[in-house]
Amino acid sequence: MYIHENVQQEPVHITKKLDFSVLVLNASYEAINICNLKRAITLIFKGVACAEEETEHEIRSASTVIRIPTVIRLLKFIRIPYRAVRFSRRNVLLRDGYRCQYCGEQFAPSLLTLDHVIPLSQGGKTQWDNVVTACKTCNIKKANRRPSEAGMSLLRKPKAPPIVYYLHLLKNIQGHHGSWQKYLFSND
Ligand SMILES: [Zn+2]
Repeated sequence: MYIHENVQQEPVHITKKLDFSVLVLNASYEAINICNLKRAITLIFKGVACAEEETEHEIRSASTVIRIPTVIRLLKFIRIPYRAVRFSRRNVLLRDGYRCQYCGEQFAPSLLTLDHVIPLSQGGKTQWDNVVTACKTCNIKKANRRPSEAGMSLLRKPKAPPIVYYLHLLKNIQGHHGSWQKYLFSND
């Protein structure tokens, strides 16, 4: 608490930095949340978390200097109930970054469709690992075929997204994609 209060008393140009986002990992290195810098620093000073990735910038309180973390990890494993991201058109477009998964181009949502990788007519399911974002041109070209049958390939294999990635996208908060990548997409 002592550090927490100290940080709050810092001049404005320092406290502004406290707004930026820090990825929180479980002790098992699984991404479980996003918090602001102030919270991350508090957790480090309480001995609850350690910094896994840091910037070159430092933050100073009256008595301490620490590097600004972009990723922290809880020292003790906490049990998190599984929280699935709801399957919806909007969430598939978000997962794929509004990018056609065949030609790689980005489009406005109204110009995008959802494509069943394995077509429904061939037993494909409407679920995260079989549905991708496709532009209208690619969707027409692929038609009712598997990608291999149409001579097309996917940018990446679709899968259900980690919920923490959605927290980030949906809140549109400032993040550190570079240093977060390996924790969010390590299974890709
Ligand atoms: Zn396309």
